[in-house]
Amino acid sequence: KDNSTVSITVVGASGDLAKKKIFPALFALYYEDCLPEHFTIFGYARSKMTDAELRNMVCRTLTCRIDKRENCTEKMELFLKRCFYHSGQYDSLDNFAELDKKLKEHEDGRVSNRIFYLSIPPNIFIDAVKCASLSASSANGWTRVIVEKPFGRDSESSAALTKDLKQIDHYLGKELVENLSVLRFSNLIFEPLWSRQYIRSVQLIFSEDFGTEGRGGYFDHYGIIRDIMQNHLLQILTLFAMETPVSLDAEDIRNEKVKVLRSMRPLKLEDVVIGQYKSETRGGVVYPGYTDDKTVPQGSLTPTFAAAALFIDNARWEGVPFLMKAGKALHDKRTEIRVQFRHVPGNLYKRNFGPDLDDATNELVIRVQPDEAIYLTINNKVPGLGMKLDRSNLNLLYAARYSKEIPDAYERLLLDAIEGERRLFIRSDELDAAWALFTPLLKELEEKKIIPEYYPYGSRSPIGAHYLAARHNVKWGDLDLEQ
Ligand code: NAP
Repeated sequence: KDNSTVSITVVGASGDLAKKKIFPALFALYYEDCLPEHFTIFGYARSKMTDAELRNMVCRTLTCRIDKRENCTEKMELFLKRCFYHSGQYDSLDNFAELDKKLKEHEDGRVSNRIFYLSIPPNIFIDAVKCASLSASSANGWTRVIVEKPFGRDSESSAALTKDLKQIDHYLGKELVENLSVLRFSNLIFEPLWSRQYIRSVQLIFSEDFGTEGRGGYFDHYGIIRDIMQNHLLQILTLFAMETPVSLDAEDIRNEKVKVLRSMRPLKLEDVVIGQYKSETRGGVVYPGYTDDKTVPQGSLTPTFAAAALFIDNARWEGVPFLMKAGKALHDKRTEIRVQFRHVPGNLYKRNFGPDLDDATNELVIRVQPDEAIYLTINNKVPGLGMKLDRSNLNLLYAARYSKEIPDAYERLLLDAIEGERRLFIRSDELDAAWALFTPLLKELEEKKIIPEYYPYGSRSPIGAHYLAARHNVKWGDLDLEQ
């Protein structure tokens, strides 16, 4: 019989992320029977709340899997009964000691394993981690901390955070693109093409179709480069570009990722375009600009959009531009990788393409969100007597192929932390290398007070992003006629 228990404390439980993502992910794990038999969930924050109030807040965002609705309400009730709340300050040893006492009661003499999920602003991470580890860590089991991005603001602050966190087993939340490695390493047809010999450019695109919407205070301190590019997109890039790891073990994968980061050419100001969204009126609706957000300082130059051209100077990738683009308040919401292949040399069918398709090359698209998909654009003949070519997609749309709902990234993250699986978490040398790449650029942008290019809320992107791609002789794939 299992004599151990897991206590999961969501620090910052009154916040947006806890409500929208963490509690629903915990419930989904519970629903799928992925949580251990004995577990307790605690919400912790300064706001005053009773257990009942927390349950009431949480129950509004829990959902059941589309494919398994039966027992849903019952399961929700059982789950909520295991959620509790403790109000306290983030820097109070005493308050955490009170929490410890409550956790112990629930653990009821079993081996105690504890997870603290820090869903709070980054400037209070250290205080909370110190208090949790001094006053509320497990006496006879393990204690793990999950830390949200952004991790630091630059090389120095990230190193300081790492140093302070060293004493405790910490996990950095990260985006999942597991399918990327599966696609590449388990299909014979892709890996041989995965190099400068066949690939002309790789594009990593992140866009959101909304702005900061009154929550810009935190964002303004970071900006889109730190918030999305330096972690999220760079992670995808390293997974994409790494050499085949010795195995799927955490250390083996990280070793390969770090090699990629260390082979990257330093980023220069001219490799980057920054933008900020401005107000736009469309169909009688006024969409606010970034600086119209009351929580954003007047005249802020913080970029809400950035595009960058990066290079990996190694044998596999030399000369291939890796173009990144990330932005808020754009025309759509997506995260995807677009791999543009080279031209077919001496293409016999050059003249049979329509006018828009004069350089119809193959493109492989791996879309992470909104609807997970992998598709490959290929050229084919339009049926009929003439010889006209067209592009179409070989398409794997996950939702159509797999009727199962795809687990949220937060579910995976929590489950991995419970199981002590480190494969998807970031190692500190990886973090150092990632910051080393972006810190000089960030400093220069700030010191020179570079003015962002203003783009209307809901537009496709600042013009500068097109020029940047054009300088490297490529076009952004997501702006093509066919998407
Ligand atoms: P949040 O709502 O701003 O903050 C979470 C809780 O922290 C608040 O409910 C508040 O609780 C406490 N708090 C807020 N500001 C504080 C301050 N200045 N000093 C002390 N306590 C403060 O944040 P969130 O959106 O939930 O995000 C949590 C973390 O996840 C942040 O690090 C964020 O960067 C990261 N993140 C968020 C998202 C998202 O979708 N929201 C996505 C990715 C990463 P009390 O007042 O009750 O103590």
